[in-house]
Amino acid sequence: MSNDVIFFTQIASIVGFIFALFGIYKLLIQQKDSVIQLLKEQLQAKNDQIIELKSTTPDSLSKSLHERIAIFESEIVRLKLDEVNHKKEIEEKENTVLKVRELLLELAGTIENEGLMCPDCNAPLSIRTHHPVFYEMNGREYETEVEFAQYECGYTLRDEIEESPCGVK
Ligand SMILES: [Zn+2]
Repeated sequence: MSNDVIFFTQIASIVGFIFALFGIYKLLIQQKDSVIQLLKEQLQAKNDQIIELKSTTPDSLSKSLHERIAIFESEIVRLKLDEVNHKKEIEEKENTVLKVRELLLELAGTIENEGLMCPDCNAPLSIRTHHPVFYEMNGREYETEVEFAQYECGYTLRDEIEESPCGVK
C-alpha cells in the first residue's frame, strides 16, 4: 500500500469513529431527556394528587400524605443524582468529540494545504513526481525541478499549471 492509501484509510476510519461517537452522544442525550421527562411527569402527578387530597380530606389522610411527600422528595434526589451522572458522562463524550473534531479539522487542513485532493471533486491524489527540466538563459544552461501531480479523477497538474481537467465535473 502506498502512503496516500494508508493516509486515506486512516481518514476514513476517523470519520467512521466520529459518526459512531455522535450516535452514542445523541442516544445519551435522548435517554437523559426521556428519564427526566418521565420523572417530571410522575412528580407532577403526585403533586396533583396531594393538592386533591389536601382539599378533600382532613387529618385521616395526613399520614399517607406525608409518605407521598417522602417518596416525592426521594425521587427529586434520585433525579438530581441521575442528572449529575449523565452530566459527567455527557461532558466526557463532548470532550472526546471536541478533541476528535479538532484532529479532523487539522487533518482536513493538511489535506487541503498539501494538495492531497482534487480541488473540484475531492478525488485523492494518485501520483506526485518531481523531474528535472533544463532551460537556457543568457547563454547558460540551468536545471530546475518540476512537479507532476495526477488525481484519481484525471485532474493533472504540471509545474502547478493544469494539464488535464477534472473528469468528474
Ligand atoms: Zn476531480
